Amino acid sequence: MEREVQRVRQAFLSGRSRPLRFRLQQLEALRRMVQEREKDILAAICSDLCKSEFNAYSQEVISVLGEIDFMLENLPEWVTAKPVKKNLLTMLDEAYLQPQPLGVVLIIGAWNYPFLLAIQPLIGAIAAGNAVIIKPSELSENTATILAKLLPQYLDQDLYIVINGGVEETTELLKQRFDHILYTGNTTVGKIVMEAAAKHLTPVTLELGGKSPCYIDKDCDLDIVCRRITWGKYMNCGQTCIAPDYILCEASLQNQIVQKIKETVKEFYGENVKESPDYERIINHRHFKRILSLLEGQKIAFGGETDEATRYIAPTVLTDVDPKTKVMQEEIFGPVLPIVPVKNVDEAINFINEREKPLALYVFSHNNKVPVEWELIMENILSILFLISVPVY
Ligand code: NAD
Repeated sequence: MEREVQRVRQAFLSGRSRPLRFRLQQLEALRRMVQEREKDILAAICSDLCKSEFNAYSQEVISVLGEIDFMLENLPEWVTAKPVKKNLLTMLDEAYLQPQPLGVVLIIGAWNYPFLLAIQPLIGAIAAGNAVIIKPSELSENTATILAKLLPQYLDQDLYIVINGGVEETTELLKQRFDHILYTGNTTVGKIVMEAAAKHLTPVTLELGGKSPCYIDKDCDLDIVCRRITWGKYMNCGQTCIAPDYILCEASLQNQIVQKIKETVKEFYGENVKESPDYERIINHRHFKRILSLLEGQKIAFGGETDEATRYIAPTVLTDVDPKTKVMQEEIFGPVLPIVPVKNVDEAINFINEREKPLALYVFSHNNKVPVEWELIMENILSILFLISVPVY
């Protein structure tokens, strides 16, 4: 491992990753890889998550291509030095800000969007002139294998390398000194990564998880709301970092919400969800069993069917969920949607503020005053979406 990191560092020290022209060439090569080898990439993603080609393309490949184009368009401007205002200390100098590459960057990817979560940070790291080691998730093994096969065919083989492996290999890798670490995954491992990085004072970017709530006000268009929640929750079988994790609403709304989600599931996935090419599977048996254990003792209002052999869990809604139960203690990361009744918006806001900060918050209301309250109270959340009454599907 040490030798591999040294090899990448030597390549960085050669200085060839720095010139703008080289960075643009590598990004163009990456785009060529995605376009020319699209079929292989889609096949790998599809086999890891039992995904349709259309879903794999629209959920992962499109974003990667968009990100590369965005970089190619903006990078020439971003790399140029920008003059800064002088002060007493610098009045005799030429003062400017010049962005510099950090050095060797480690990217540790997660399995839920395995191609996107490895390649998107790679695009930024190449654009910034760094050398990169990518460690894809071992759980999405087909994508990990295709990344290790394809990247050396298109990119500089010493500057950008893929190291595959699990906990043992990642632990070994984290002993090495990097200049930045980009990690996507769960919070527990995030702490391990941060601790390892601290030993070298390496800065980290941690893309973690959380329980993202939906608040449904009684004054809203429930048809639109349930359609949007169904789409966001059951996409990728609930294995999305900002998927709606649970619903907070007045108890009297529960039955209508269940009914409308049920109808939308039928519209999206057909009578028999299990046979739908658009509905994915849980990544492995460990996660399958973990999600099943969240259903214990709960009132299943809809769904709940499972098949261990194929790791199938039907789109499921739970009602009257007690906040103290297991399903409300951890990120669900699966197709199970608990509804927790609250008396009013204030109780919903307190409920969320008493817990760890979520990644996203979804508020559905026609009442313009409700969003203002949320804006005042919620801080530091990755994204707050106020979906008022815009009839977009
Ligand atoms: P995972 O199991 O693939 O783990 C992530 C990475 O950590 C893998 O590369 C794995 O090899 C490595 N790893 C695992 N255990 C380790 C250990 N003990 N020491 C060192 N490295 C180790 O993925 P996961 O954690 O199940 O990913 C799902 C989580 O990621 C969810 O919480 C989800 O919300 C979050 N996520 C966040 C974002 C975001 O942008 N914020 C995006 C996707 C996923």
